[in-house]
Amino acid sequence: MRISKNRVFSVYIFDEILKKVKNITEKYEFEVFGYLIGELFQWNSKLYIIINDMIYIESCTDSTRYSVSQIKGSAGEYEKEFRRLKKKNNNKNLRVLGWWHSHPNLGCFLSSTDLSTQKFFFPESYQVALVIDPMKKNYKFFTLDENNNKGYKEVSHAIIR
Ligand SMILES: [Zn+2]
Repeated sequence: MRISKNRVFSVYIFDEILKKVKNITEKYEFEVFGYLIGELFQWNSKLYIIINDMIYIESCTDSTRYSVSQIKGSAGEYEKEFRRLKKKNNNKNLRVLGWWHSHPNLGCFLSSTDLSTQKFFFPESYQVALVIDPMKKNYKFFTLDENNNKGYKEVSHAIIR
C-alpha cells in the first residue's frame, strides 16, 4: 500500500471488511454491533490505523436491547474472541481499534449513549466508531474530540482494495 506524501488518512479499512460489516447490518432492522480489529501506525507525528479484521458475535445480538447495553453485557465475550484471533494470527500487534454499529434509518452520528460507550470502552485517540445506516446506505467514522462541542468528530478514511 502507498501512502501519499502530503496526506495520511486517519483510518484505512480493507474493502472486504467494510463489506462484511455492511452485510451484517443489512440483515437486521435493529441496531447491531461488533469490534474493529487491526494495527496502529505512525507517520511523522500522525497516528493512523489499518482495519484488517472485525469481530461479530451473533449470539450477543439482542433486538430488545440497545447496542450500548449489549456492548456492556458482552464485552467479556468480545475480549475473549479478540484474544483468540490474536493467537490464531500470531500477531501481537493486533489491537482493538474500535467498534462498529448500525443506525437503521437514523443517519450517522454518535448518540449520547454511543459517546459514553466510546469513552468507556474505546477511549484512545486512535480508536474509532464506525456507524452504518444500512437503509440510507451511508457510513461514517468518528473519534472522541474534546475540542468539539459535540464531544466527537468525523475522521477521514480510505478504503484498501
Ligand atoms: Zn448509535
